[in-house]
Amino acid sequence: MIRRDFLKSNILGAAGVALAASPIAALTSCSPKKEEVELKLSFQEKTAPGESLNERFDYMENLGIVGFEPGGRNLAARVNEFQQALRGRNIKVSAICAGFDGFILAQDPKTKAEFDSSMRDIIAAAGELGSTGVIMVPAFNRQKPCMPHTLETRAYLCEQMHELGEYALKHNTTVILEPLNRREAHYLRQVADAAAICRDSKSAGVMCMGDFWHMQEETSDYAAFMAAGQYLQHVHVASRGNRKMPGEDGELDNYVEGMRALKQLGYDKYISFECGTNGDRNVTVPAAVELLRAQWKLA
Ligand code: MG
Repeated sequence: MIRRDFLKSNILGAAGVALAASPIAALTSCSPKKEEVELKLSFQEKTAPGESLNERFDYMENLGIVGFEPGGRNLAARVNEFQQALRGRNIKVSAICAGFDGFILAQDPKTKAEFDSSMRDIIAAAGELGSTGVIMVPAFNRQKPCMPHTLETRAYLCEQMHELGEYALKHNTTVILEPLNRREAHYLRQVADAAAICRDSKSAGVMCMGDFWHMQEETSDYAAFMAAGQYLQHVHVASRGNRKMPGEDGELDNYVEGMRALKQLGYDKYISFECGTNGDRNVTVPAAVELLRAQWKLA
């Protein structure tokens, strides 16, 4: 409670300085356009209640959800279906969530080849759908045999990501590295580390993201997003205790610090729901949207 009051008074203090419009205000206010940054919310395919894709899109439009994040599995075969269903709507494809076979750090050449070919098919389909990118994880803990966590492996990853990034650019999209928590993937756990791999991959087609659920690895949501800066292409959101709808974990579900960084960065991409629910979607989904909008205002 003390912390919340402190946050509020800091925000009010900053607003007061900006309003003063003195030369000092211009110097101290790090983002004069902060209040203009729009919150663009996105849902995965099963987030909204509904029996069909069209019912779900209707529901999303009524709630003002402007992004859609489908899974990448079998994406090429679904491009037409998505294009038809999105026609005339105020919803765009935000990102594509994985869906490839194999993994990029596989030791087995056959598994690596499966990754290369299926990932490229998804990237091409993502480009057709106007997606900001295709989300990928270098290696889950369960994926074995995996290349060892060494300097050579990192150099190899950057080189491979470069190739993939350049391929994605040719299809007007990107590849987006997602750091996970250590229980799922010890290899890549922090947003700043993912951003450093983007930088060292030397391709504008290699980007990264943050997932508020996995960001339990971070000591500061604000610092994590600020460190990602220009490389930040997507954000996932869920409740922070049990990965349900934002708000289902009560006091834990505070996104204000991270959102403040997004606003200061002028982040113009999406915050996309990646979570289940313990309740009735007709209740928990609109409540989560309302909570995120209120916190965005506060940030
Ligand atoms: Mg995620």
